[in-house]
Amino acid sequence: MTTASLDWLIIGGGIHGVHIAACLLAEAKIAPNQLRIVDPGSKLLERWETCTAITGMTHLRSPAVHHLDLDAWSLNRFAGKPKRQSLGLMKGKYRKPALSLFNSHCEKVIHQYGLSKLHIQDRAVACSVGCEEVNVSFVSGNEVKAKNLVLAIGAAEQPHWPEWAPQDHARVHHIFAPGFDGWPSSSEAVAVIGGGISSAQVALRLARAGHEVHMVVRHALREENFDSDPGWLGPKNMVQFDKESNLNRRRRMINDARHRGSMPPDVSSALRRAIDHSQIQWHATAVEEVSQGETELRLQLKDGCALDVDRILLATGFSKKRPGGALVDDLIESASLPCAECGYPVVDESLRWHSNIFVTGPLAELEIGPVSRNIAGARRAASRLVEVARKDKAGLQKAS
Ligand SMILES: Cc1cc2nc3c(=O)[nH]c(=O)nc-3n(C[C@H](O)[C@H](O)[C@H](O)COP(=O)(O)OP(=O)(O)OC[C@H]3O[C@@H](n4cnc5c(N)ncnc54)[C@H](O)[C@@H]3O)c2cc1C
Repeated sequence: MTTASLDWLIIGGGIHGVHIAACLLAEAKIAPNQLRIVDPGSKLLERWETCTAITGMTHLRSPAVHHLDLDAWSLNRFAGKPKRQSLGLMKGKYRKPALSLFNSHCEKVIHQYGLSKLHIQDRAVACSVGCEEVNVSFVSGNEVKAKNLVLAIGAAEQPHWPEWAPQDHARVHHIFAPGFDGWPSSSEAVAVIGGGISSAQVALRLARAGHEVHMVVRHALREENFDSDPGWLGPKNMVQFDKESNLNRRRRMINDARHRGSMPPDVSSALRRAIDHSQIQWHATAVEEVSQGETELRLQLKDGCALDVDRILLATGFSKKRPGGALVDDLIESASLPCAECGYPVVDESLRWHSNIFVTGPLAELEIGPVSRNIAGARRAASRLVEVARKDKAGLQKAS
């Protein structure tokens, strides 16, 4: 067992953890030997790469100014001059970057700031608050004492399973379940459950591969350019959100703002075309139950019809429950950390949950607002943490 002592430990090496690490090093001038990112993946951003690859998405939903580098124009510059860019590198008037371009740019960021060397491949299993630091224990048995801990635990480890869906059936899979291996190899009839962008992308990917595809969606097709209105990226909507002191009302504002189960026009057009050409069958209803036939899975639908398929792929997004599982539950209990009625952290403007503990992503939602889970949310969280780190350093210099 080894015990290390650090200024900053970030739990989670996803989009948020990586961007925050880059900003703390480059903007707040935290020394690399004083910062680590712990994540169980074999490399940083592994969950992001896996989840996005499964969907078959070609472009991001967010525009090119949302990325992991510091300068907002970094990804645009990385893509090269518009005239020289290969076709499709940036899509539409919002210049949504190709996934391949975005991922290469992420690699550039990781390389530029030397982040791979700061990655501890491990899982944090317990945190306890000391006088001036937080003790974090890893599954390996190693420990880190950190003056500042950032919980950058996204939702990617908690896919939402509808109640009717068995979790132990060899041909019922959630596309975002860690270790997903449910992609059909031979020609099959597949039911894709869910009506959002990932569900549409998976259905289109299956149709392109020649499978018989059924989409079961509780609502009509919803078209929205972004996850939430761009007004939530700035003062237009955030002034009102910041003024709201009642956290239940803030939660309602977040829920109302999110365009859940929606997809941008390019994806919905492709989906409509596939439906028109009978490559995808659209079932506007919900699933009542699933039963095992001789070889097939029978989905009993709420509209009274039944659907026989070889495989069910759940594209039902992530659970709404607070991320972090037992690690965060125990921390709340032991350090008496404040939570709102929805179970999410009550933090200050610096995203501080406790004198040494900060949050980002879903855990920072009640402070950052509806974009908190997105890349834009990572950028907003990072700028607040950089301020904390700068003040921290200035305070130390004054004291010495
Ligand atoms: C398919 C898909 C496409 C998306 N497209 C966009 C887009 O175009 N634009 C946009 O803005 N957003 C998009 N998003 C939303 C969001 O940006 C992503 O979900 C992003 O990956 C969230 O990053 P994160 O760092 O919060 O979380 P995660 O990606 O969940 O990363 C968190 C990491 O923390 C690790 N972790 C969890 N618990 C522990 C622990 N105890 N110890 C150590 N490590 C731990 C996890 O293993 C994981 O690696 C998309 C999401 C998905 C799923």
